[in-house]
Amino acid sequence: MSHPQAAGEFLKDQAKAKWHDETLWFVRDKRDRISKTIPEWEDLRELASQIKDHVLSKLDSYLEEFERNAQKNGIKIHWAKDAEEHNQIVLSILQEQNCTAIVKSKSILTEECHLNPFLEKNGIEVVDTDLGERIVQFLNQPPSHIVLPAIHLKKGEISELFHEKLQTEKGNEDPAYLTHAARLHLREKFLSAKVAITGVNFGVAETGEFVVCTNEGNADMGVHLAQVHIACMGIEKIIPRRKDLGVFLRLLARSATGQPVTNYNSHFRSPSAGKEIHLILVDNGRTAQLAREKFRNSLKCIRCGACMNTCPIYRRSGGYSYGSTVPGPIGSILSPGLDMKKYSTLPFASTLCGSCSDVCPVKINIHEQLYEWRQEITKTHGELGKNLSMKLASGIFKSPLAYKLSGSLMRSALKTLPKSLIYHPINSWGKGRNLPETPQESFKDWYKKNRK
Ligand code: SF4
Repeated sequence: MSHPQAAGEFLKDQAKAKWHDETLWFVRDKRDRISKTIPEWEDLRELASQIKDHVLSKLDSYLEEFERNAQKNGIKIHWAKDAEEHNQIVLSILQEQNCTAIVKSKSILTEECHLNPFLEKNGIEVVDTDLGERIVQFLNQPPSHIVLPAIHLKKGEISELFHEKLQTEKGNEDPAYLTHAARLHLREKFLSAKVAITGVNFGVAETGEFVVCTNEGNADMGVHLAQVHIACMGIEKIIPRRKDLGVFLRLLARSATGQPVTNYNSHFRSPSAGKEIHLILVDNGRTAQLAREKFRNSLKCIRCGACMNTCPIYRRSGGYSYGSTVPGPIGSILSPGLDMKKYSTLPFASTLCGSCSDVCPVKINIHEQLYEWRQEITKTHGELGKNLSMKLASGIFKSPLAYKLSGSLMRSALKTLPKSLIYHPINSWGKGRNLPETPQESFKDWYKKNRK
């Protein structure tokens, strides 16, 4: 389903769409307020951006340094070129351990690799331990947002779901009550899992340690109780030195949820006695993106979600309308790199207002890349009708006379033509848009009259 079609589905429930828009704006607003409490905010963004640019320019050597140091610390390193290899590595570790049930904390990379369905097909029970992720897992849905996975659901829906799955009191929507029920349910899972899987927010080349950030402490709970910790890390998550962490940790939580710091920033350096840590370094299209000069800096992303919270299209069309693991503006520049045809409508799901680039803590020029992708996609997957109408529009805009004549022609035609003709199926532009009310006169005429 294309983005406009899926967005149309989301917008059928107007009240929910409005609530979704307002909720995410609230998060964006929190981010704005807290960022202004740090005078050096813009310097931090600049520094983070430069560190990431530097890492990307020497990614191979930083990865090797990270691998060497992590191995010295006793961490077992695996390399996966794609999602399939990643999933097979996880499965083989679980089979070695005779493990049939795991706990997993939030990891967008494992979502990207579709690890849950793969493991379930192979007889492994997977329990997502982040509360939002557990909620969407109960519904057999993927997360709709990378930081707030269940943000598309209202309290009442969660209460109904918990009543069905966890036998909570019917109609009780008290968040404290529902959270307590989830905690009891998850505790059992934590206590019985032999293996815990986590994502990785930052891998430090200098020390070979990695850092996992959560607000619920669920990653720590899983890892400390399990015998084996499997950490799944995209190769772009490397930072050079430990002291760089301070820059990113200050930016991450503030940009994501408007908090001063994430509640738990856990450092994993070496396994405790008798335990194992496996770390899987995953490419899955990242090297290809690195080679695309215009798009490579999309790999600087630290997955804070700020670009989603601010995007007027994401807020109004919901995460599922993107049909990709990472939705929103950053997803719209990462996904076409994985499959340009499948995700051909995503770079057009933007007003190009630039708000995503303005809030990005690592200064990715997201809106410029959206525009670049549009050029690429139009060359190979453009709709004939749209391409022809754009060429026609371009000819009209280039000629002042043609612009004047077509303006006055359309002003009268739009008032009289039947809607079926204006929104005809061959008018692909009109399929997803309503035209504004026709003005009485052109701006030029208005200007002549009013600005003598
Ligand atoms: S692109 Fe920037 S704003 Fe968007 S998720 Fe990544 S780091 Fe955050």
